[in-house]
Amino acid sequence: MSRSVWAYSENEIVSNEIASAAAEVARASSAEAVVVEIGRTREGVRAPGGKLLLKGPPSPDVSPEVAAESLCRAAKELQPVAILVGATRTGREIASKLAAKLRIGCISEVAKLGSDGQSLTGERSVFAGRVVAKVGCPFPAVATVKVGSYPRSETASGAVQEKDVGVVGDAVRLVSREKKAAGAVDLKSAKVIVSAGRGVKKKEDLAMLEDLAAKMHGALGCSRPLSADLGWLPEEHHIGLTGVNVKPDLYLAIGISGQLQHVAGMKDSKVVASINTDKDAPMFQASDYGIVGDLYQVVPAIKKVLAART
Ligand SMILES: Cc1cc2nc3c(=O)[nH]c(=O)nc-3n(C[C@H](O)[C@H](O)[C@H](O)COP(=O)(O)OP(=O)(O)OC[C@H]3O[C@@H](n4cnc5c(N)ncnc54)[C@H](O)[C@@H]3O)c2cc1C
Repeated sequence: MSRSVWAYSENEIVSNEIASAAAEVARASSAEAVVVEIGRTREGVRAPGGKLLLKGPPSPDVSPEVAAESLCRAAKELQPVAILVGATRTGREIASKLAAKLRIGCISEVAKLGSDGQSLTGERSVFAGRVVAKVGCPFPAVATVKVGSYPRSETASGAVQEKDVGVVGDAVRLVSREKKAAGAVDLKSAKVIVSAGRGVKKKEDLAMLEDLAAKMHGALGCSRPLSADLGWLPEEHHIGLTGVNVKPDLYLAIGISGQLQHVAGMKDSKVVASINTDKDAPMFQASDYGIVGDLYQVVPAIKKVLAART
């Protein structure tokens, strides 16, 4: 195999994003982009260059241990200049194990990847998104690529090269898999997010915001205290540094003070509007529109206007 940049993710959608990232690095480093699959090829995974299929244990659920070991064995032989892994929870585990096994560097959560021909470069947001750090690592390098930072590759897949790396067993066994209850919130793809903060006085009052979200064809999010401390909403509703990163068309922050840990998770929203009783709340600094007022008066007023329009 000639000089190559590999892309791998256990997640099909993320795999297509990482394929685009690999194509960019490959262009900058005069290499070819290769999408790696383990155990089986997935039809939905597009590869701008070609695919490398590493034969693995027959299970469709490749554990991080097997993925890291398979990638390590193949890399030792085929010597890619860079291995890009999607920065999912599993991907982070794979990348760290892989870099340690290969004894090479790993840059994490990067976007805007590139190369000067000798090293892998990228940008990473730090200090809750207030600063962008430019990072680099000499080839060969591993990187975890920020999910959502690249468009999904739609190029049809090229040739598939197969390789048996001799990983036959898996010390980790999947015991069971349970689907999340229907109706679980999908904040990442929501166009409108109505987000609740500590300004909401009681759990029952969330129904008012949930109703507003439904009327706006949106989803209900929240600040961390509402899920982590009070347990009023499941953790997948919590937006911010330690929660979900979102970028809806409209983010409506209701009773949220706007601490930087929260803003870090919603600052890429197209339009931000806030409702807060405190005119000096930092959330207004991160907003395009703001209403200084009591949410218990403002929210019913908005709902009234929406009802009059339908
Ligand atoms: C390591 C670390 C990680 C963290 N990660 C996250 C994270 O990912 N996401 C996150 O959200 N937080 C996170 N936090 C917590 C964060 O620092 C804040 O404490 C939190 O965001 C505050 O939530 P809040 O704005 O809902 O509550 P508060 O800060 O208590 O603000 C409540 C706001 O509601 C307003 N208000 C009160 N009554 C009304 C009313 N009737 N009508 C309108 N407005 C009203 C108040 O003026 C105030 O501005 C983290 C903290 C740490 C230390």
